[in-house]
Amino acid sequence: MLMKGARVSLLEGEKHRKTLLDRGILDINYKIAYDGDFIILPLKEEISGYEIIDYDFTPLEKRKKSLREMLSKKIPESYLLKLRAFDVIGNIALIHLTDELIPYQSLIGEAFLELNPFIKAVFRKEVIEGAYRIPKLELIAGENITETIHREFGVRILLDISKVYFSPRLSEERKRISSLVKKNEIVLDMFCGVGPFSLMISKKSEAKKIYAIDINETAIFYLKRNVALNKTYNIFPIHGDSRKEIKDIENPDRIIMNLPHSSFDFLPDVFSTYASSIVHFYSVSENIDFVMDKIIENSKKHDKKVEFIFERTVKSYSPNTDIYCVDFYFS
Ligand code: SAM
Repeated sequence: MLMKGARVSLLEGEKHRKTLLDRGILDINYKIAYDGDFIILPLKEEISGYEIIDYDFTPLEKRKKSLREMLSKKIPESYLLKLRAFDVIGNIALIHLTDELIPYQSLIGEAFLELNPFIKAVFRKEVIEGAYRIPKLELIAGENITETIHREFGVRILLDISKVYFSPRLSEERKRISSLVKKNEIVLDMFCGVGPFSLMISKKSEAKKIYAIDINETAIFYLKRNVALNKTYNIFPIHGDSRKEIKDIENPDRIIMNLPHSSFDFLPDVFSTYASSIVHFYSVSENIDFVMDKIIENSKKHDKKVEFIFERTVKSYSPNTDIYCVDFYFS
């Protein structure tokens, strides 16, 4: 913007900047300009004793306020401390709110929309329920849209957040697993949802075949659309109960068991159906040792030997429990 500026020597620039700031004449909304051995200080008004010139100053970008700052005068501070992070899925945001924050949900949703113009809808997420693991949702700000395309390391994932399970927090885990898959591997994704693991593996590895099963027909509908969207050729979507469907599937080299609440219920079927495989096993527990002990216990019942490869905490689930991933090989 063309405005008045004070041209002073670079060597004395800091002294003049301070003087003009103290006198309330420096315009702090614009960047100081540099001109060889001189600097040009943006002014709110002309001042005597300085070389005054017209200059096209660049405005300083305003620092974005944080969500907490925006809400600080509207919601008690002790409640705000309980505000957790939003999950962003495509152009939709989801948040779980504690009881004391629920009366302020519209304020929170609107503030999030204001800070993130690319977000079109904010939903409050309650407990995830049932076999399909779908969250109960309530729109708290924006448009009532539930279908979106989420982007993850170059993979496009189309889904309806009200009809299928999806967590953006597992993206690193999906990248990790896809980097382990070797050329020509047969992979089995036993609880695939809309296919984020399968799609990432298909895009990032040279797997031969990826069998992807889900009991939720809508999840398989979206997986098929995602296969087309990502132009992948080696995913075989199967709608059905994994317990039954795996019986008709060749022995895989690698199995993904991402059903943290009940993956143990399916382990006997895996041990009794296949001779050997690597398993990426997800489980909710208070302690990773419980998970590993239970895997051993199960394997013994089916005369299988287990070698643990890697264990990690994927994310926290509740104050006392985490979701763990245990990678193991059985034969
Ligand atoms: N792996 C996916 C992801 O990361 O988005 C989905 C994981 S979600 C925790 C578990 C999925 O398992 C849900 O989509 C649910 O419908 C599916 N599911 C539950 N029981 C099943 C079963 N018996 N056979 C196949 N899929 C099942």
